[in-house]
Amino acid sequence: MRIHAAAALLPGGWERDVTLVVADGLLVSVTPGSAALPDDIRVEALVPGMPNLHSHAFQRGFSGLTEWRGAGRDSFWTWREMMYRFALQLDPEGMEAIAALACVEMLEAGFTRLGEFHYLHHAPDGRPYADPAEMSRRIFAATEATGIALTHLPVFYAHGGFGGAAPTEGQRRFVQDVDGFDRLMEACAASLHRPQDRLGLAPHSLRAATPEQIRRLAQVWPGRPFHIHIAEQAKEVEDCLGHCGARPVEWLMDNAPVGPEWCLIHATHLTAAEVAAIAASGAVVGLCPLTEANLGDGTFPAADFLAVGGRFGIGTDSNVSISVTGELQMLEYSQRLAHQARNICATSGSTGTVLFTAALQGGAQALAAPAPVLAPGAGADLVALRDPLGLDDTGSLLDRWIFGAGVTVADVWASGAHLVEGGRHRERDRIFGAAAKAIRRLI
Ligand SMILES: [Zn+2]
Repeated sequence: MRIHAAAALLPGGWERDVTLVVADGLLVSVTPGSAALPDDIRVEALVPGMPNLHSHAFQRGFSGLTEWRGAGRDSFWTWREMMYRFALQLDPEGMEAIAALACVEMLEAGFTRLGEFHYLHHAPDGRPYADPAEMSRRIFAATEATGIALTHLPVFYAHGGFGGAAPTEGQRRFVQDVDGFDRLMEACAASLHRPQDRLGLAPHSLRAATPEQIRRLAQVWPGRPFHIHIAEQAKEVEDCLGHCGARPVEWLMDNAPVGPEWCLIHATHLTAAEVAAIAASGAVVGLCPLTEANLGDGTFPAADFLAVGGRFGIGTDSNVSISVTGELQMLEYSQRLAHQARNICATSGSTGTVLFTAALQGGAQALAAPAPVLAPGAGADLVALRDPLGLDDTGSLLDRWIFGAGVTVADVWASGAHLVEGGRHRERDRIFGAAAKAIRRLI
């Protein structure tokens, strides 16, 4: 397959009239300054596909259904009760249908890889399914049906709070011991068969896994993407100080082998020392700015983190809204509101380009994905943008896309498959129909 782009964002910057040859899911050649041939697929502006480094796909099923003020103060913790109620009802078919919906929306948004932080393991009564990977397989089926690449992150979840507290009834579908988790990992490793798929793991949080369990997981499953929720809520920081005598990130840095394969999800509440320690470790911070805003988590200190060379990627987390541009825009706007200034995340040049290229690199690192570049040998994960005004100004194109000046996603290829054309996924209608049925049964 040959694609001809009027402009393409190559590792050295924008180039004109670029021909890309794709075979077996990879870019074979990338040639700027070349003429289009009659059978080429022609696009306006081509950029690499974005990895989505943090998602709980099933949560797409109640997007927009928790924005209703109840009696008393609503918070992350009241939202979590609603999420548990939804999670407790979901059957494997519903999981597959809703996950496929989320994957379609991710691809249409310009995400080409899903990092699925997957903790809904057992049957609604809390007993394991006969196949420990039953619910994981539903995620695999959704990614195969939609074509998005997958980095699957089975979650280890053993406790209901700090200090090894017993799990609650609402957590019964998530919890297992270390042997059960090893069986799940082995079952997942045996059934992920597409060449683009990866397997990592995720101790859920310092609330749900003890220090000994986290260290054991890092020893038994070395060298794989290793993700953990951390320091998302102020209450979590207080509880951690009470139990461990240290803040969550401070404790993690002192007690766990945090390195480049680690991804610290949220890391919202940080001291200057914690900011520096994460950056020095080479770990990626997984920012989910739309969910963090939706849940009232707080504001990540992006300016300080980027100033010391910190790496980040973006995730859609609760999937309340699935949007590459929305996440990057919210990240930048949260900083502008906090600092009462403009263009915070870039120290010079286009803010959109700085945000987009940093999130590509961080996301690929966190998900063990191929290099997110338009270059020979890289994965053919491609997003074609369309500018309805035809301004022919590549220098501002990513800013005009991210900050909402009418630029849209036209075409998307993941691992070489042409999945989105004219802004629509090729299986959109069928998958939306099945998801609507599943969601109606649940609400
Ligand atoms: Zn999460």
